[in-house]
This record gives sequence, C-alpha cells and structure tokens, in this order.
Amino acid sequence: MEPTFYGGIEAGGTKFVCAVGTAPDAIEAKTVIPTTSPDETLAKVVEFFQSGPAIQAMGIASFGPLDLNRQSPTYGHIAKTPKLAWVNTDLAGIIGSKLGVPVAIDTDVNGAALGELTYGAGKGLHTIAYMTVGTGIGVGCIIDGRIMRGIANSEIGHMLIPRQPGDDFRDGCPYHRDCLEGFASGTALRKRWDNPEQMSSAALALEAYYLGCGITNIITFLSPQRIIIGGGVMHQAGLLERVRHEVAGLLNGYVETPADKDFITQPALGGESGIYGALLLASASGPDAPGS
Ligand code: ZN
Repeated sequence: MEPTFYGGIEAGGTKFVCAVGTAPDAIEAKTVIPTTSPDETLAKVVEFFQSGPAIQAMGIASFGPLDLNRQSPTYGHIAKTPKLAWVNTDLAGIIGSKLGVPVAIDTDVNGAALGELTYGAGKGLHTIAYMTVGTGIGVGCIIDGRIMRGIANSEIGHMLIPRQPGDDFRDGCPYHRDCLEGFASGTALRKRWDNPEQMSSAALALEAYYLGCGITNIITFLSPQRIIIGGGVMHQAGLLERVRHEVAGLLNGYVETPADKDFITQPALGGESGIYGALLLASASGPDAPGS
C-alpha cells in the first residue's frame, strides 16, 4: 500500500514552518519560510507542498486570532491581528484551494497542546494545558482528549490577574490594565526592564508571581493533569522552579495537585510541538478528530 502523506503548517508571526510526512514523527521534508506579505508567503508555502509527495490533507496551527466557527462565512480566516497585512486573510481557504486538499485549522497553541498531548509531555494523559510565554501569552487546553472549544478561540492569556502591590507598569496590553499577558509577556518584559534577557532576582520573582497567578487560575477551572509551559521567556534560568513555588503558595493546599514536580513542566518536543500538532490536525481531520 502506498503511504499516506499529510501536510502541516505552523504559521507564526515571523516564520511559517512547513512539513510533509506520514506522521508527526515521520517527517519527509520540512522548510521554513519567513512571514512577509500574505501573497508572497503563501505562494512559497504552496510551492513547497507542490514540490513534494501528494498530500491527503493539511493541518494548520496558526497565529491569530482566527475565526474557528465552522458556520461562519469567514471560517479559517485570520481575524483582527496586530499584523495588519494579514487581517482577513483566508488562510485555510487559500491553502485548501491551491493544493486541492481538505484543511483543518486551529490556533498555534491548540496545535502545540495537541502535539504535546500525543507525542510529548502530555503523553498518556487526557486533560492538559499548554502555555507559551513569548511575545504574547497563549494557552491551549485539551479536555478529555479534545481541544477546548467555545464561540471562538479562548484568550486565556488575557485573564485578569491581581496586581502586585507597588507594580506601576501599565503598558503591557492595550486592552486591559491588569491581564496576564500585559504583566508578564516577553513584550511586557522588554518594556519593563533594561535587560530582559538577564532578569534580576527581583524581576524573576515578579514574573514568577504573575505566571503563578495565571497557572493557579488555570488549575482551579480546568483541573488539568499537567501544565506544559514553554516559550522564549521560560528559558530564563530558575524561572520554572520559581513558578512552581508560586503556584504551590497561591493554591495554599486547597486544590490537591500531583506531588510530581513535572505537574508543571517544559514541553518535551521543544520547538516542535506546533508542527507536530499541525500534522496531527491533518491526519485526524475526520469526524472524530481531536480538533473537530
Ligand atoms: Zn489583555
């Protein structure tokens, strides 16, 4: 029998990672295309997939916000994004029509959550949260093996958080004065500190407090079996340990969490969680698909 190939795209604000394979851990070809204008970027993406083996379906894990309402006429479009050239781009539609394949699309963090659930730090579990702390803060949740869905993609990064007394910083989020992304994203850190790459102990403590608040809130409403936390900001030495400590303090024994320190852990797939998720979206794009 001929092998079945799937396409995966991890669409980000700076680059599009494209891969073809029979499974996420059996990638045959991969390329990275810089994110410029929609026309230029998508033409190169299409060219890459046309040059390889014929794919049966495509999965896209994309930056957003996205319209994920299947009843909407703009399903699969990129919605209001700060990347203005991409506003209203019919990402799923363009890729699907140019390549003549069905397309499953979801947010980058939901894709990464699915990748980690199936092949990474969430393997063997059914309910997890995946958080990335980078330019922004995104969270993808899997409940009972399925990506959490509502009227749109969830915006857990914008949950409101109690401000640390004495913290006067207000420029992190244009929409909310006191939200997690506004306090603790990489963008906020660059505005807060002169040297965000080498945070002082006080800066790390403040960051851990805000991330700890966010994760505590996620634990209280989702009751996840594991929380996977990645993104560039988490490369700061000692931050993950501080976050674990904050969460334990904030929960104050009220919620029983696994004693295992890996209850709050790093992604096992490193930077590959998103492309794994994209390929999973493609291969599972039937009626029982995790993302459907
Ligand atoms: Zn916000």
